[in-house]
Amino acid sequence: MSNAADTAASAPAPESRPFEADVAKLLHMMVHSVYSDRDVFLRELISNAADACEKLRFEAISEPALLGDDPKPRIVITADKEAGRLVVEDNGVGMSREEMLEALGTIARSGTKAFMERIEAAQSKEGAQLIGQFGVGFYSAFMVADRVDVVSRRAGSDEAALWSSDGKGAFTIAEADPAQAPARGTRVTLHLMEDAKSYAERWTLERIVKAQSGHVPVPISLVEKPG
Ligand code: ADP
Ligand code: MG
Repeated sequence: MSNAADTAASAPAPESRPFEADVAKLLHMMVHSVYSDRDVFLRELISNAADACEKLRFEAISEPALLGDDPKPRIVITADKEAGRLVVEDNGVGMSREEMLEALGTIARSGTKAFMERIEAAQSKEGAQLIGQFGVGFYSAFMVADRVDVVSRRAGSDEAALWSSDGKGAFTIAEADPAQAPARGTRVTLHLMEDAKSYAERWTLERIVKAQSGHVPVPISLVEKPG
């Protein structure tokens, strides 16, 4: 017997969750950080991608099958100027739905906590400048994007998950169509704000990658979507 509830169970609707209070506060700071150097968001996304590749390399020592037929780590940045989109994709370890919920909604990181404490004590303008000094991670994407989508597939998994947020207090998480997801790893899509469209320009991206991510141990390639 089949009914509407069965159908819903096999393809669950996106689930909406509020950010933890400190994350919401941090996001508000990010979005209003007009004085800070927004370029740092790319360093943070590249560093996460490289960390994910390193984590996979480590896990593959005891479980080589995780590498499948794609053993070489890579980070691909795709700039779509026409659409105003920037994509950072890696073939690293990826995240399960549960890992995404944990990693992209809470403020467990010690660096972020220290940052928040400094921010509390600082004036807002001074606080905004702190963003550049601290590594504030994934959430810095909301300095340049009014929506961020993260689709990820954990190494060795058939399933993929999609996280999405406008950075305004809540995010959604849903099953992703595996055919549209990376074969392994994570794709972060930034829908760039009106005043941040230059982050879809090749020369801007080349300049930032050269200045901030030269030491990253994973090859980074830059692709332009034909407009
Ligand atoms: P940090 O990198 O210091 O832990 P971030 O805010 O940059 O903090 O990222 C939070 C967490 O989100 C990471 O620890 C990781 O678990 C997860 N994450 C972010 N980006 C990726 C990615 N590209 N691949 C896998 N996991 C990721
Ligand atoms: Mg990070």
